[in-house]
Amino acid sequence: MKDQGYYRKEHGACSVQKTWSLQLVTLADTRSTYGKSLEIREHAQLLVVGAGPAGLAAALEAVRRGLRVVLVDEHPVDYATMATDVPFHFGQRMSGAVRNRGRMLERIVEADSQFAQAFEAGIDIRLGIAAWGLFTHEAGLRWVRTRIAGLTNGEEVWFLQYDAAILATGRRDVGLAFPGWNLPGVMGVTAADTLLRRYDALEARDLLVVGSGAEATAFAMQAQKSSRLIVALVEAGDTTVDQNGSQRLAAAGVPIFTKSMIASANGGTEGLQSATIVALGNSSEKRSVACDTVVLASGVTSAIELLDVAGAKIVFCPERGGHVPATDAEGRTSVPMLFAAGDCTGITPDKSRDPQVAADEGCRAASAAAAALSINAGRNWSVPTATPSTTSEIALADRIAWANAQLAVADQGTHVCQCEEVSATDLIGVRPPRYLERNQPATCARSLATLAADGPINQDQIKRLTRAGMGVCQGRRCREQIGAILAAVTRTPLTEIPLPTYRAPVRPLPLSAFAATEEAAVLAENWDVWFGIESQFEEPLPKRFR
Ligand SMILES: Cc1cc2nc3c(=O)[nH]c(=O)nc-3n(C[C@H](O)[C@H](O)[C@H](O)COP(=O)(O)OP(=O)(O)OC[C@H]3O[C@@H](n4cnc5c(N)ncnc54)[C@H](O)[C@@H]3O)c2cc1C
Repeated sequence: MKDQGYYRKEHGACSVQKTWSLQLVTLADTRSTYGKSLEIREHAQLLVVGAGPAGLAAALEAVRRGLRVVLVDEHPVDYATMATDVPFHFGQRMSGAVRNRGRMLERIVEADSQFAQAFEAGIDIRLGIAAWGLFTHEAGLRWVRTRIAGLTNGEEVWFLQYDAAILATGRRDVGLAFPGWNLPGVMGVTAADTLLRRYDALEARDLLVVGSGAEATAFAMQAQKSSRLIVALVEAGDTTVDQNGSQRLAAAGVPIFTKSMIASANGGTEGLQSATIVALGNSSEKRSVACDTVVLASGVTSAIELLDVAGAKIVFCPERGGHVPATDAEGRTSVPMLFAAGDCTGITPDKSRDPQVAADEGCRAASAAAAALSINAGRNWSVPTATPSTTSEIALADRIAWANAQLAVADQGTHVCQCEEVSATDLIGVRPPRYLERNQPATCARSLATLAADGPINQDQIKRLTRAGMGVCQGRRCREQIGAILAAVTRTPLTEIPLPTYRAPVRPLPLSAFAATEEAAVLAENWDVWFGIESQFEEPLPKRFR
């Protein structure tokens, strides 16, 4: 029993007992979670999260190898969730069609012929279901005895136990703040592509695209095919990133502005009417273009939140777009029986152009998962080191270039974190949240420079001091741009800015969804006390709380 850290709660105080060996032994607190278990609703031999090319290919390969598969995907996402820019930066550009959930389900299935194959193959497909957490028996979670996933349909939450899981959670957009970027009509390229291809519900006619990499050019060409007008492409760098794609767009009449930045999006509550483009280094050279939508394609990043919550080792890999899980060639992560495939393992230009790359990764991960399940490989799991990337086309220098460009155009009212209204000036000055007294001498004396002198810059610390990234979008719009601003201002390599922590639930969920979940009586009976402290919720409530 020694060193196990058990303790027993008796009569409101912890009692420490001596044993025959005179070692201090503490027994379990009957009010803690120790010895109790969660209600598990269902079981999957293989859980696949994400029904994009990687997840669908993985699920199909797994059933071919005789596994029983549950495949979940959060799309179609309901209108209210989309309106909060979750899971992508939709910028209110979804048409009313997304309110028709039944129609959207049909549309998503029609958009990818692999769904029909997956249904026929007997895969248990759950659309409109998000995974909000992944938990295994590890430090801090010793009471979780198996591998479980928290799932939700938005109205209730439940737990599914799995033997192995493949995460194929894709990518999301990197935000870019400039005056007016909070207006309806400014959106991310992943959101725009999703509304265009998967939902057929993109309400946009004249689009300005910011960025010139593979995502920007591929999206612009797809939008043109869908009868949208691309009014211009704006690139902060001296040259375009995807030169072939940009040349094709230029030949089709799209004006391309390099060494430029969007200085402002202009319009009102109804949305965007125009955008101003400025030449970097010459602020008098400005031009206005009429548009109803600005598509931010200056950066995309792997959706790693579930991997991080699951405890997978995360590494910074510039060639693959930033923070990615350490995986081997078959998608094994550092967590036993947890695999990753597709864009969530890293984004390269060839992946953005050809979904087959992600699908091949899904197949490899499924083969490896089947082999691992057959020999119960979870017991002897070796932690993979990150596979080196073969391309250096994206080196993330461009992320710093965009950060410098945004600092050049930002004004006091430009909120990098829209949810918590934190501006670039607030970040650089490490200003306290607006609801606190902001003129205290100690806080006024603080800045990024003074923090950098104290030790390495840490984005979680900045988050706690300023609240940047703490809002309802869970940092999806600001997380990477804050990292880039911190790196640019303190001249710290981006690789040295640590990943800010992700926490479950990785999707914003109403408390009512958790409240609706039945717990075992033994768990519920002590839910209103904390470490035996006399209940703070007992009636009558103290006067100050009434
Ligand atoms: C401009 C542009 C054009 C593109 N055109 C095409 C195209 O024509 N055809 C094509 O197939 N691909 C296209 N792609 C996609 C591209 O090829 C991707 O690399 C590919 O889709 C990656 O597949 P994936 O399965 O890894 O990720 P994705 O396709 O992004 O799929 C990830 C899935 O995971 C789900 N997910 C994420 N987190 C959760 C969670 N917590 N719970 C439940 N579900 C979750 C998401 O809903 C999503 O469906 C395009 C991309 C861009 C940027």
